[in-house]
Amino acid sequence: MTAFDTIIIGAGMSGVTSARMLADAGRRVLLLEARDRIGGRMHTDRSAGFAVDLGASWIHGITDSPLWDLVRTLGIPTIEFTVGSFQAGGRPIENFDGDGDPMDAEATERWVADVAWADLALADEIARSAPGDTYLDVTERVLDRSGWTPERIDEVREFFRHRVEEQCGAWIGDLDAHGLDEDAIEGDEVIFPRGYDELPQRIARGLDVRLDHVVTRVSRSRDGVVVSTDRGDFAASHVVVTVPLGVLKTGAIEFEPALPEQVAGPIARLGMGVFNKLFLQFPARFWSEDSYVLRALGEAGEHWHSWYDVSAVSGRPTLLTFAAGPFGRYQQGRSDDAVIDDALASLRAMYGERVGRPVAHWITHWGDDPFSFGSYSHLAVGSSHRDHDALAGPVDGVLHFAGEATWGDEPATVGAALYSGHRAAERILNRPIAMSDFAGRIAAREQTDTD
Ligand SMILES: Cc1cc2nc3c(=O)[nH]c(=O)nc-3n(C[C@H](O)[C@H](O)[C@H](O)COP(=O)(O)OP(=O)(O)OC[C@H]3O[C@@H](n4cnc5c(N)ncnc54)[C@H](O)[C@@H]3O)c2cc1C
Repeated sequence: MTAFDTIIIGAGMSGVTSARMLADAGRRVLLLEARDRIGGRMHTDRSAGFAVDLGASWIHGITDSPLWDLVRTLGIPTIEFTVGSFQAGGRPIENFDGDGDPMDAEATERWVADVAWADLALADEIARSAPGDTYLDVTERVLDRSGWTPERIDEVREFFRHRVEEQCGAWIGDLDAHGLDEDAIEGDEVIFPRGYDELPQRIARGLDVRLDHVVTRVSRSRDGVVVSTDRGDFAASHVVVTVPLGVLKTGAIEFEPALPEQVAGPIARLGMGVFNKLFLQFPARFWSEDSYVLRALGEAGEHWHSWYDVSAVSGRPTLLTFAAGPFGRYQQGRSDDAVIDDALASLRAMYGERVGRPVAHWITHWGDDPFSFGSYSHLAVGSSHRDHDALAGPVDGVLHFAGEATWGDEPATVGAALYSGHRAAERILNRPIAMSDFAGRIAAREQTDTD
């Protein structure tokens, strides 16, 4: 059996980052990937002649972001699209009230102010919360003391519920009170007109990547690690496991000996949420040119509530909406037609019969995906921020974990995947690696290849 220095399991953003850094340091690296493609939860469908990002789309805040610096060094084009994260104001949002009627400027201003007040009060409530308190507990306490009418309370309550669903893919009552502590957005947000998976693909260029290799077992001893796949065994001194938390939770990969509590505990405690996308392309635009987002509040937006105008990517009128948390799991079990009809009924509650039949659609099923079993991790009640970083290991000095779920600062993001992959490579090399050197080497190699 050929022995490698390091085997990386999973060729998503964290895996390709670790692999590239280690290969650049002269290590013999093997990347084993179950799918027939690189990128994992960064997945762009280009079959229609333009990019549709079925996984990650946004950099949520480009200020002081090493991820943004990497994107710029590689010259990857982006489009500014702030309010990609769940915000009440910030950029033009077309709001509709609980009856599905458009809200005027005054009502909108009051609504944005209500959310701002509630968020401020929420910060205090979270700081005072007791272990075991859920995000539902703390938001209800804030709403209880708001003194608002039931309608105003309902609108803000729905907003909190939907924010948790979108940011965490979870039901608000399952999220720890501290589950959105790391949710700050610094600076503008951007999306990728050529598709976000260009980034991991370019990082991986030239690496030894074996696609269609499903890892089933990882056995470690003092001499190193043996990784078993459906296509044979591979040995190395170190292994970096980057498969999603959802896969670790199912036990689809057997660890021998069993993982210690230091890693097994966080795997059990942290939550894996479901966040699915529905893109609908229409024959003509029926919403305002100037809006980034259409949002239904209160009853009108109980299920399908936020519609993001992503027409700039394809040049065709396209709305993106999400089904997340329990609603997302429920929609996964339905036919495409049923999902589309349901979503169209919500749009028609706001825009009436102007809403035409979509000419194309894309629907994701991340919760059922056998190589993901969910969309991203969150702080389920009973877990703590420390669980994310504890999950990284290492175990017995040879087994490392990376991936969004292992990065406590901003889990559930591409940035978390990048930084956790970086950390694993530094731990294996036992020295720091400058992010700027990493980016510069990729750009220089590409330049040499084109000369
Ligand atoms: C719908 C959706 C929207 C999102 N939107 C955003 C966004 O806008 N901005 C943002 O920053 N983040 C977003 N995210 C989160 C972001 O995509 C992830 O945090 C990030 O891509 C995770 O990278 P990773 O390397 O940790 O995991 P992954 O990309 O999942 O990589 C893990 C790899 O392991 C492979 N694997 C699994 N099991 C096995 C096995 N048994 N053997 C071998 N290989 C295996 C998988 O196929 C995969 O390629 C979104 C995610 C989803 C699902």
